[in-house]
Amino acid sequence: MPELPEVETVVRTLRTQIIGQRIQKVTVVWPRTVYEDPQFGDKVIGQRIVSISRRGKYLVFQLERGYFSVHLRMEGRFFLTPLGEEPKKHTHVIFQLDEANLEFNDTRKFGRIKYSVEDPVLSELMTLGPEPFDEALTPDYCLAKASSRTIPLKTFLLDQSMIAGLGNIYADEVCFLAKLSPLKPVSTITFAQWQELIGLMRMVLSEAILAGGATVRTYTASLGITGRFQTSLRVYGRSNQSCIECGHPLTRTVIGQRSSVYCEHCQKG
Ligand SMILES: [Zn+2]
Repeated sequence: MPELPEVETVVRTLRTQIIGQRIQKVTVVWPRTVYEDPQFGDKVIGQRIVSISRRGKYLVFQLERGYFSVHLRMEGRFFLTPLGEEPKKHTHVIFQLDEANLEFNDTRKFGRIKYSVEDPVLSELMTLGPEPFDEALTPDYCLAKASSRTIPLKTFLLDQSMIAGLGNIYADEVCFLAKLSPLKPVSTITFAQWQELIGLMRMVLSEAILAGGATVRTYTASLGITGRFQTSLRVYGRSNQSCIECGHPLTRTVIGQRSSVYCEHCQKG
């Protein structure tokens, strides 16, 4: 599943390619992608793409008179293809722009696109908590939200209504760097530990966004705009391999139905 850095990379890549172009025609191949809104095409046709931004893991396309928001979910990605070219397999929505087709492609069909007249950031997306880079994300905010909860730290970090945009990969990385068990009851995290956790969230996400910057430069249309890139992960995806700090084998467990990897030796806090 794309996480915040990958979505940010998709936004930055698209910004360099399609800002200012007008949507000339829309073909919806799989109606569920647009919440089966039969008017979706009519609503966006004729409008120029004014800006593209990110809120949590949503992409928000601002048009002249409205917005559409996109959630990539598991496998959603964009392709920019030449006008007149046959759409790719698994392309569910095609936006014909002035200079290219923007294809929304999704092998798993979980991705969703929604049109709204109002800024979606001010309506439905407001149920999202602050992002790691928001000034609103402070140790006091986390303490207030976590003090009465008995859920594990990892589950709290993944709750998008608490903190928006932190996913499975970076939640594991942050717990490892903080030397805290992902299973630690979140109510027991101290002010100082929250301060460190927030700093680490910003650090690992910045690292990944920087790595993604390379993807923007090397973007090739044939691979699609997925925002995926190689970044060196410390624990995620390394279960049973040795811990980079102490050499003990890393442990895999399931927390809140999500696969989690941590070092029992280093993460005792
Ligand atoms: Zn270790």
